[in-house]
Amino acid sequence: VSALDAAEARADLNAFLHIDRDLTLAQAHAADKLLASGQDAPALAGVPIAHKDVFVTRGWRSTAGSKMLANYVSPFDATVVERLHEAGAVSLGKLNCDEFAMGSGNENSAFGPARNPWDTSTIPGGSSGGSAAAVAAGLVMAATGTDTGGSVRQPAALCGVSGIKPTYGTVSRFGMIAYGSSLDQAGPIARHAQDLLDILDPISGFDPRDSTSLEHCNGSANVPGRIRSQYEQALQAQEAGGSLPLKGLRIGVPKEFVNDKLDADVAKAVQAALQAFEALGAVRVEVSLPRTELSIPTYYVIAPAEASSNLSRYDGVRYGHRAAQYGDLAEMTSRSRTEAFGPEVLRRIMVGTYVLSHGYYDAYYLQAQRVRHMIADDFQRAFADHCDVIMGPVTPTTAKHIGDNREDPVAEWLADIYTLGVSLAGLPAMSVPCGFGGAQGRLPIGLQIIGNYFHEGQLLAVAHRYQ
Ligand code: GLN
Repeated sequence: VSALDAAEARADLNAFLHIDRDLTLAQAHAADKLLASGQDAPALAGVPIAHKDVFVTRGWRSTAGSKMLANYVSPFDATVVERLHEAGAVSLGKLNCDEFAMGSGNENSAFGPARNPWDTSTIPGGSSGGSAAAVAAGLVMAATGTDTGGSVRQPAALCGVSGIKPTYGTVSRFGMIAYGSSLDQAGPIARHAQDLLDILDPISGFDPRDSTSLEHCNGSANVPGRIRSQYEQALQAQEAGGSLPLKGLRIGVPKEFVNDKLDADVAKAVQAALQAFEALGAVRVEVSLPRTELSIPTYYVIAPAEASSNLSRYDGVRYGHRAAQYGDLAEMTSRSRTEAFGPEVLRRIMVGTYVLSHGYYDAYYLQAQRVRHMIADDFQRAFADHCDVIMGPVTPTTAKHIGDNREDPVAEWLADIYTLGVSLAGLPAMSVPCGFGGAQGRLPIGLQIIGNYFHEGQLLAVAHRYQ
């Protein structure tokens, strides 16, 4: 009850879109009973969490931040939701996000922007902005998010909390409202590595209901427990290092990440973090990711292409908003879509249908797919020849003021430069707080830690040493 009260008391953050006290209290009572029964209670029994509104939930509405789904209630739970429920976690409700997860600031939500608890005149980052804001404000122990091109890492960075996007295929996308299906991955946002592990481990694992869910990760079965045991092994190895627990860890620092887009305070905080890792025994090596700049046009062809296809299902017939007045069937569909989709979503649909259309497909979509492979190869070369993990900034700046990017949507796309490559390559990556900057030096900055495929446990162990 007190967690619900606290969540309601912070309505100013606009982090929660739907709270239903009865639903939450029913879950809490069930968890209480288990805890009182004396039997082995599930690991997360009674722990307050909340879900980004792109995970469908029985009971609570699932809007994906869109007017299109303003009244949609799913008849089933997403796999992520189901697994956390089974682990005993209690959901306080559904969290604000950019419409269909399209954005980096949470300003594209049909229900208004969420706000950053560190300074409520600034954005929390996006698209999982409500998730990061709720964790940063202490309203939940952890929240689920999704990351297509940075949407877990960016809001975590801007709100001074931690977030991890696992390797593509590790967590089931079943029941996650689709944006770019070849990129979308669920990941938790929480305070630190240990809490991330407690959420990521149980939600990971093969799911026959998602055809891109993996049965195996580098030879070991994709099951809950895999990430935890990798994490524990890595911690044990670190113990052997004594006062230099990270001795031998090679940290690749991409030279392309230091560019004119990077603010001085962010660069400084990242440098300080790298020095802290060196003090723990790690060594720094320069690596090159030569197609870093190309990740922006590549992503902004592929993601809208997939989005235009995924969003074609919102036609006003099967579900979603239907216009009140229309002549024929075609007009009903076009009116419904025009009325219910926001400007950023319409922009993406237009870009997406254009790059997939006859005559342009080869020039844009196919070309982008080729560059996507080259971007993935660049990461593999760095890992094979030079380093164990890659580190750098998450965002080029601290949180902007709400409204700053209103005139220029492309400015927001450009700020994704540090996160898109990882998503195109399908690699795991996390964000951990590494300092403060901005006008009065009071806004959080995040450090990005990128690992090779299926190294989630190792990433979390490295982050744990630093935190
Ligand atoms: N900013 C990127 C976009 O708008 C990434 C969003 C995301 O990861 N969901 O597409």
